[in-house]
Amino acid sequence: MSGNRFVTGKGTGKGTGKAGTAKALSRRMFIAGIGAAAIGATAIGAVWRGAFAATASSAPAQDVSIENFSPAGKSLGIVRVPKIVKSDAEWRAQLSPAAFNVAREEGTERAFSGEYDHYKADGIFRCVCCETALYDSKAKFDSGTGWPSFWQPISALNIAKQSDSSLFMQRDAISCRRCNAHLGHVFDDGPRPTGLRYCMNSVALIFTARA
Ligand SMILES: [Zn+2]
Repeated sequence: MSGNRFVTGKGTGKGTGKAGTAKALSRRMFIAGIGAAAIGATAIGAVWRGAFAATASSAPAQDVSIENFSPAGKSLGIVRVPKIVKSDAEWRAQLSPAAFNVAREEGTERAFSGEYDHYKADGIFRCVCCETALYDSKAKFDSGTGWPSFWQPISALNIAKQSDSSLFMQRDAISCRRCNAHLGHVFDDGPRPTGLRYCMNSVALIFTARA
């Protein structure tokens, strides 16, 4: 929900609705006007970033909104819960070395090596770190890439997307909203109806059969 507020704020902050007067301006003035609008947008962006940074640093136990799901995959509603923050030592004690490498160190499992790549069972895939529901098997498809792939998350609230420019590639990394576990990446070459391919690491997920 808060993500939507940020988008709305940015959109209304640009204030460039003066195109109608552009014809009356000389080319030089028109370009100067665009420059001023761009500076205005940048300043507003800085204010938003500043507000976000202040929120992040002043709240050690930051709350997040998560949508809970039953073992049948039915929504149990949206709840406000504290973000899960643990030390590396605590995560290492909880996770397998492979899961720690992917989820906490942004690693990637070898293609075709994960147990869920060709998995066809009916159920819910949850975060290996905090068990937040992430994907329904009904949105799983065989991408042929060697990693379990989904065309949508079970709830947009439960994942987060960040730009990732590592390994000389421009990608969008996907993480668990509740505990920041790295899960994989999303690409725009997926099937209908979304056209998206959430390319996940098996070791970052745990599967529970639909009940
Ligand atoms: Zn998690």
